[in-house]
Amino acid sequence: MLSEGEVVFTPEELERYDRQIRIPEFGIEAQVRLKRKRALIIGIGGLGSIISIYLTRAGVGKLLLIDRDKVSITDLNRQILYTHEDVGKYKVKVAIKKLSEMNPYVDVDGVSDEVNENNVDDYVREADIVIDGLDSFKTRLIVNDSCVRFKRPFIHGAVNGFNGQVMTIMPLKGPCLRCLIPKEPPEEKHIVPVIGVTPAIIGTIEALEAIKIMTGLGEPLVGYLLVVNGLHGYFRKFKIARKPNCPACGEKR
Ligand SMILES: [Zn+2]
Repeated sequence: MLSEGEVVFTPEELERYDRQIRIPEFGIEAQVRLKRKRALIIGIGGLGSIISIYLTRAGVGKLLLIDRDKVSITDLNRQILYTHEDVGKYKVKVAIKKLSEMNPYVDVDGVSDEVNENNVDDYVREADIVIDGLDSFKTRLIVNDSCVRFKRPFIHGAVNGFNGQVMTIMPLKGPCLRCLIPKEPPEEKHIVPVIGVTPAIIGTIEALEAIKIMTGLGEPLVGYLLVVNGLHGYFRKFKIARKPNCPACGEKR
């Protein structure tokens, strides 16, 4: 048994994290910091499957999942938490069961709900970090604004086809999502086409950013938009400035 403040690890738990604790920059200190954190993943589809699996395996303290949908057969090319026999079941229910089996030392909880202006603050307030597994820019901006209000780090990720992007938002320390996209684009009515590897790449980078923020390691993508073009094989980082007149994080808000 190893105890650091209120954080307690069993010997088996320490063994489970052995390979990452051995990373010199990581060590037991980062493992303790990770176990103290409550991460909120909004949307557990293609991105959320990957994000939740890696945060569970890394040993985050508490994971809260929100998604209103049931598993559909069209989800199975990319939403790797689910299998053929899960079709028709609530994603949150399946995800809690599978993630808890992956790592019984993580407290995994979830709500079948749709995030909107009326309930977003209740969820964001309780989290140490919020991670984007959404497929709608309208909802992403609602979540962004709440993260700015409560000064919660927000990891944004989005995918389309073979392309994707990631941006890490530290409210008031760097630009927010509304500095990049002041008004939501017209609601996406068409189905976003995507190959499974794209949310896998983007979701993994989101999980990495979340681990960096929760442990205080490295240089998160604050002030940058990382754009991935899978088909042409490149990653590009664009500098994004904080806008003084941003409706969410600007001076006159
Ligand atoms: Zn802003």
